[in-house]
Amino acid sequence: MKPTIALVGRPNVGKSTLFNRLTKTRDALVADQPGLTRDRHYGHGKVGEKPYFVVDTGGFEPVVDEGIMFEMARQTLQAVDEADAIVFIVDGRVGITPQDKIIAQRLRQTDRPVWVAVNKVEGMNRGVVTADFFELGLGDPVAISGSHGEGVRDLINEVLERFEVPVEDEEADHPKFAIVGRPNVGKSTLVNAVLGEERVIAFDQPGTTRDSVYIDFERGGQQYTIIDTAGVRRRGKVTEIIEKFSVIKTMQAIEDANVAVLVLDATQEVSDQDAKVASFVLETGRALVVAVNKWEAADTEQRDRIKREISRKLGFLEFARFHYISALAGQGVADLFKSIDAAYEAAMIKIPTPKLTRALQIAIERQQPPISGKVRPKMRYAHQGGSNPPVIVIHGNALDEVPASYWRYLEHCFMKTFKLQGTPLQVQFKRGENPFDTQDKPRAKPNPRSKMRGR
Ligand code: GDP
Ligand code: GDP
Repeated sequence: MKPTIALVGRPNVGKSTLFNRLTKTRDALVADQPGLTRDRHYGHGKVGEKPYFVVDTGGFEPVVDEGIMFEMARQTLQAVDEADAIVFIVDGRVGITPQDKIIAQRLRQTDRPVWVAVNKVEGMNRGVVTADFFELGLGDPVAISGSHGEGVRDLINEVLERFEVPVEDEEADHPKFAIVGRPNVGKSTLVNAVLGEERVIAFDQPGTTRDSVYIDFERGGQQYTIIDTAGVRRRGKVTEIIEKFSVIKTMQAIEDANVAVLVLDATQEVSDQDAKVASFVLETGRALVVAVNKWEAADTEQRDRIKREISRKLGFLEFARFHYISALAGQGVADLFKSIDAAYEAAMIKIPTPKLTRALQIAIERQQPPISGKVRPKMRYAHQGGSNPPVIVIHGNALDEVPASYWRYLEHCFMKTFKLQGTPLQVQFKRGENPFDTQDKPRAKPNPRSKMRGR
């Protein structure tokens, strides 16, 4: 599982500057999709081959006991408990403050590993500035400059050293789907409805509150793993796990699944939280099925409203299938499985190069890429560069000149030809076949709708 790093510290020490640096490598799949709500506080990044989640906990004012600052402190403490590692940021120019000491005291109680990052030290003597912060009792402070990027890579490498690099789950041979959504939309009810009839093969008690429950079961001769982010409250089970909505838990579950089932409540408006969970799914490139739950309880007006809001606020999920279900009554659950199966198959599809190339040729025959200046981009062949989401890499010349609209056209053609409903698709262009070209990494797809593209 991708480790989660929480950035903690009092206001103004440079948390959000560091956060921005750590999340700069944006997944090109999603950059600024219309309607996509990005959460400023949760993001992901990579150093080398090592991916991580990062959480900016906002300002931590440990001394107040009410109001917005209190709420922030509460959220910070939750993040501290749920993250895999904590980076505690202090200001090397200001030196140690009483607030730093209070935060340190709290952090010494956690069983999570903590690094003290002494920030803003560009141009300063590192040994001298860090010495001051030994007193916090959290080990050797590390000197960094978030705004200049000094020491940041080393710090994150050191943090990640103790975590295994998650290997791509290539051999996964059955659908693993996560039930996600904000509290009270009916996730546990849906898990119960799904498992009610089925043979449960294995069941993991969660180790801590932040862990999701993984349940293997069989349905119609097919094996599945369900990742339950709500904590099961199964019939006949004594243990009731009280749910505390956890963004980290939700992100990790989505990351770990092949297919996410996003549950919405038909009797409520589509909230920012719904949109955020949806955007995590898109960011990870996971396949998606949307279950609009409590359909039986929604009146006509509510049904109209949620449909309107879905197209307005969740328009970026157009690749997914939507189901209108009642988990409580067990209605629509069987159909949901059809879409989970289809989304899984689409996400894991393996398309041979000749087939992909043929599909590319047909698309080009139907509509040529436009000439840009004096050149017409020439696309020669396509191969598949990955799964979940499927990545299609197109080889040829002058591919930098392919406009976004044509990009979308190709995406659409591949989606249709290979019936890829339920999964996002990534089309990448690989530049000229120059054997001396050492930069032969596929160019990430830029945002088709970005204004930046018009050079
Ligand atoms: P936050 O409140 O902890 O999120 O802090 P911000 O990231 O908003 O930074 C607070 C101030 O410190 C801003 O004016 C930043 O430009 C500045 N800052 C952040 N990182 C550095 C750094 O590495 N060096 C210097 N000199 N200033 C920094
Ligand atoms: P969770 O927090 O997302 O796991 O939501 P729960 O499964 O605990 O459900 C929250 C509340 O919604 C409970 O009172 C459920 O009985 C109710 N609920 C769940 N599914 C449905 C449904 O399909 N129809 C109606 N009317 N209520 C439902």
